[in-house]
Amino acid sequence: MKAVCWEGTNDIRVERVPDPAILNPRDAIVRVTSTAICGSDLHLMDGFIPTMKAGDILGHEFMGEIVDVGTGVTTLQKGDRVIVPFPIACGQCYFCTHDLWSCCDNSNPNAAIAEALYGFSPSGLFGYSHMMGGYAGGQAQYARVPFADVGPFKVPDHLTDEQVLFLTDIFPTGYMAAENCNITPGDIVAVWGCGPVGQFAIRSAFHLGAGRVIAIDTVPERLQMATQAGAETLDSMEDDVFECLKAMTGGLGPDACIDAVGMEAHGAHLDYWYDKVKTMAFMATDRASTLRQAIHCCRKGGTLSIPGVYGGFIDKVPMGAAFNKGLTLKMGQTHVHKYLPELLRLIESGRIDPSFVITHRAPIEDAPQLYKTFRDKQDGCVKVVLKPH
Ligand SMILES: [Zn+2]
Ligand SMILES: [Zn+2]
Repeated sequence: MKAVCWEGTNDIRVERVPDPAILNPRDAIVRVTSTAICGSDLHLMDGFIPTMKAGDILGHEFMGEIVDVGTGVTTLQKGDRVIVPFPIACGQCYFCTHDLWSCCDNSNPNAAIAEALYGFSPSGLFGYSHMMGGYAGGQAQYARVPFADVGPFKVPDHLTDEQVLFLTDIFPTGYMAAENCNITPGDIVAVWGCGPVGQFAIRSAFHLGAGRVIAIDTVPERLQMATQAGAETLDSMEDDVFECLKAMTGGLGPDACIDAVGMEAHGAHLDYWYDKVKTMAFMATDRASTLRQAIHCCRKGGTLSIPGVYGGFIDKVPMGAAFNKGLTLKMGQTHVHKYLPELLRLIESGRIDPSFVITHRAPIEDAPQLYKTFRDKQDGCVKVVLKPH
């Protein structure tokens, strides 16, 4: 089959690789009909995530048709059309039974690596390094799905791939980011980063009762997309974000701040260059200029929600500001399984059509070029959907 493979930092290629096969009774094989490139895939391309190996198949946002099931899977049949959450979860451990699906204790065969770094291991993830399980990803013609009696969700035929594909990650991720803001009616929520997750966070914040959402980015077409959802906007290259947010919130600061940028934040300020030098010298692994600014801007007693991915260590986190303002910090990989049924109902009811975020559609062969287009935010690129067949 054809698959998008990581061959090294900034070296992504479409290769011919062996088809996946059933390895365990609870596996299923999905013929992938649609798959997307995620902002967090860019961290892999850019070499920010350790334990990648040449030849690893990328991709954790995919859906398709079941073409084979193991003997232990009774909930799915050949021909079922499914979406596959990006965290792999067993459905039976303490964490799965407490709706903490991305913390599953049984799905990462390489847990020891993650434990050395984090104390305890998160769940396995599709296509996201050997530290996260070494699972082949879904930017391919076929994918093996472990714990298939738990993970894949069937979708009704009247919804298109483009309407439901983002239930695999970015829609639940934006939704959980907004839910983590503890929004009370009328709250003002500031969102850093108007990429796909930021866009869903903005819409989810309004859905959960925010009175105003202020979206912060530098890319005009992304700010425009935020405006279409009813957000006010700031350009962080032109505006003094702190002073503007203060003025827009009666001097108080936003009730909640969402960092939808994560570890590769780019900024106009001195601390960006400080981070860049430190990460290049391996004294820190993640850049944190957005996180610092969000902590700085949040009102006293407010909430900081972090859906943006962090992988390792960050330097100069303004802990004093977070502490003395009494902030609540919430973060984490998304518990996709928890949110998926509810968000699928929102799509079915017509209240949201997630396909608004798609700017590029292409055959899988174009993936290497589109990774670059997406990373460099060229050609108005916000979200890429790939067709493997
Ligand atoms: Zn993703
Ligand atoms: Zn589990």
